[in-house]
Amino acid sequence: MIDLHTHTTASDGRCTPKELVAHAARAGVSVLSVTDHDTISGCDAVAAECAPAGIEFVAGIEITAVRVVTDVHVLGYFIDRGSPALLDFLAAQRRQRIDRVRLMIDRLADFGVRLDADAILQPGVADTGKAAGRPWIARALVAGGHVKTTNEAFDRWLSRGRPAFVPRVGAMPEEVFTRIHEAGGVASLAHPGLLGCDQWISGFVTAGLDAIEVYHSRHDSDATVRYQQLAARHNLGISGGSDYHADEHHGAGGPGSVSLPRDDFDRLVRLKRQGGFTNV
Ligand SMILES: [Zn+2]
Ligand SMILES: [Zn+2]
Repeated sequence: MIDLHTHTTASDGRCTPKELVAHAARAGVSVLSVTDHDTISGCDAVAAECAPAGIEFVAGIEITAVRVVTDVHVLGYFIDRGSPALLDFLAAQRRQRIDRVRLMIDRLADFGVRLDADAILQPGVADTGKAAGRPWIARALVAGGHVKTTNEAFDRWLSRGRPAFVPRVGAMPEEVFTRIHEAGGVASLAHPGLLGCDQWISGFVTAGLDAIEVYHSRHDSDATVRYQQLAARHNLGISGGSDYHADEHHGAGGPGSVSLPRDDFDRLVRLKRQGGFTNV
């Protein structure tokens, strides 16, 4: 079982690196990548837990790019975790996340919903490797009794088109592909079925995209077939994973619930050996 898309408490996942690997080991995962949003701070701990569990670890990241006020999630695999340029870039991405959370808390105050921004952002101040995001506000809205569930927080306040929504500012997808390549990684477009902008993919390929995520917990069989065909047409590699967050409202029920076929994984490895700059 090969799961190349999971999250931990370093971003919006609810389980620690240790818990993630324990869940993955129980599920029979043999290759695991942790792909936290805009941070690799969970990678070392996951790698350390994978080794004794006999799980092959793949260093990963899920970077949020922005195009036409739309978030475009880009997965990076086999990245060099010591790359100073990548670490600087990710730190800037996380600062933009904190700024956005503050703006959304200000927006809520305009509507009479007062939250303590410093308390909400405290985990990101205490550990600058942590990636802030809307789930932090959603949990504070629940804790403050303003809504009953985090889903309601998004539906009433935080989703696009809702009163407290603030669009993200950040790097374009093309820049993100380059950053991943500079760190020796392979760039894959995350869950294109959720993005819903297939018309952008050929431009992304021209800009250096190496792969697309064909297998994902929210791709039905039609979407999976569609993206298999699209990958073949553009001669792209294929990635896949559960997008496990240990959150019943967000993502898959468990690591390994979506598995990438071994042949596709082997091809991703070959893309890495070529430096990720050209398609096989
Ligand atoms: Zn994503
Ligand atoms: Zn994800």
